[in-house]
Amino acid sequence: MKKLYAILLASALSIISFVGILPTTIATSNNLNKNSKFVLIPLPYSYDALEPYIDKQTMEIHHDKHEQAYVDNLNKALTNYPELYSKTTEQMLKNLDTLPTDIKQSVINNAGGVYNHEFFWSVMSPKHNQEPSGNLLKAINSTFGSFDNFKKLFTEAALSRFGSGWVWLVKDSNNKLSIITTANQDSPISLGYTPILALDVWEHAYYLKYQNKRIDYINNWWNVVNWNQAESYFNR
Ligand code: MN
Repeated sequence: MKKLYAILLASALSIISFVGILPTTIATSNNLNKNSKFVLIPLPYSYDALEPYIDKQTMEIHHDKHEQAYVDNLNKALTNYPELYSKTTEQMLKNLDTLPTDIKQSVINNAGGVYNHEFFWSVMSPKHNQEPSGNLLKAINSTFGSFDNFKKLFTEAALSRFGSGWVWLVKDSNNKLSIITTANQDSPISLGYTPILALDVWEHAYYLKYQNKRIDYINNWWNVVNWNQAESYFNR
């Protein structure tokens, strides 16, 4: 009888802990294993899934080396503040003022690096040549005039981002869309925005295949946008 009790208790506990860690969205940047260090989350598709637009080798290096470095440096930065391992990158980036001053910039850079890349992977898809639809398309049309004009403005923003950074489609608390760029690994969630779409314009995102031709990278990237996922970010 005691043994049965123990088994029942153990399965109840495992159900509770399982429900407790369920991610609510694809790009959670959740540290799923609470109270332990951050780990690199696998890409949601194979390394060659975005070929021919983004090549396999770029994806391998980008995910396995660059994002891994952000994970490692985030863990290093939190060494003296182990209570922060139980936070998500999102929680830290949305509350930068609560962080210890001596690690704040490192968290901006490295939690930002982790969050931004997880988000970026999630808004690309092996199902190529999708188009926006539904509420998001309506909002794009009413904000930017047309989908083509939105693409033109987003592309111009991506080209004009000097040095390393990102271009984003975001919404504010009134659901109003805008296109913004951020430097380095600064994240729009630290500015109070909800990201809908992101493009990494660091050279490491495209240099192997496209060298200095950022415009070719951007033009090709449109083919792999996961509009379905962007739509669900807009609707949340
Ligand atoms: Mn990157």
